[in-house]
Amino acid sequence: MMQPLLTFTERGIYCAQGDFYIDPWKPVARALITHGHADHARRGMESYLATQAAAPVMQHRLGPDERIETVKYGETINMGGVQVSYHPAGHVTGSAQIRVEYGGEVWVASGDYKTVDDGLSEPFEPVKCHAFITESTFGLPVFKWTNQDVLRAQINDWWAKNAAEGRVSILSAYALGKAQRLLRALDGEIGPILTHGAIEATNAVLRGQGIALPDTMLVTAETTAKTHPTALVLATPSGMASPWAKKFGAASTAFASGWMALRGVRRRRGADRGFIMSDHADWTGLNDAIAATGAERVFVTHGYTDVFARYLSEQGYDARVVETDYTGESLDAPAEEAS
Ligand SMILES: [Zn+2]
Ligand SMILES: [Zn+2]
Repeated sequence: MMQPLLTFTERGIYCAQGDFYIDPWKPVARALITHGHADHARRGMESYLATQAAAPVMQHRLGPDERIETVKYGETINMGGVQVSYHPAGHVTGSAQIRVEYGGEVWVASGDYKTVDDGLSEPFEPVKCHAFITESTFGLPVFKWTNQDVLRAQINDWWAKNAAEGRVSILSAYALGKAQRLLRALDGEIGPILTHGAIEATNAVLRGQGIALPDTMLVTAETTAKTHPTALVLATPSGMASPWAKKFGAASTAFASGWMALRGVRRRRGADRGFIMSDHADWTGLNDAIAATGAERVFVTHGYTDVFARYLSEQGYDARVVETDYTGESLDAPAEEAS
């Protein structure tokens, strides 16, 4: 029997014909990277290939010594007879699904993705294939994201109310992706926007590649609730949980996460508000994306893998769970470990 075009090895998703790995979690010679989050772009590869838009943040995170080659969306490159191309995944800036074709067979490794256009990431593009590798971070029907206009109003109303009471608002978000989406949604008329260092550093990289973001101010030792009583502070999940957040006094705290769709999570976290928002696909997004590929075979990675693969099997797909080292969206992730 012919070997499958992509196989799941202990180092990562491997293409034997082209001799490359996709988002490997152990050092390899040739790594094709879907996007810059830490569970997909890791240090120690001999070479990296990513989209032009993903490369600056990857270089910032991996350090100056790693060699990153770039590719344009839709550009086809030949690797050992395998046709490889990158297509927008709609997850974060520069994120890609990687399409591989050999002998008339097409596989797509989607990394992380979302189907809703967030106005910041290149919009998700369905890619026809025979086999599709999908995440399942939010692969349950309970996960349904708030409409983005409604979400914007919810967040600004919360901030405005706090500002009127002279309370600082602290909103937790990942440094890459969600932080910038939130930034763009904020109404700067309400007050100043302050940022945690990890977020500000990522903002600087993205601004450097021409992405417009509202003005922000880095939180320093001098920044307190007294100096900026009407501020909104964008914090990383780890920053929010640390003594760093304490200097803002009796601030109102909120999470923006897909997990906020689960009643009880916000309460257990002790946050005042939870906004339902994610850079991953919700239940409808996952199902729409998979249907649009036309794939018969679906490989389910990180998330609600068992439940989701079983559901897909019932829908007539040849679906199975595969073990990887990718992590879904977490409320506990350190700044650089974003999903
Ligand atoms: Zn990600
Ligand atoms: Zn991920």
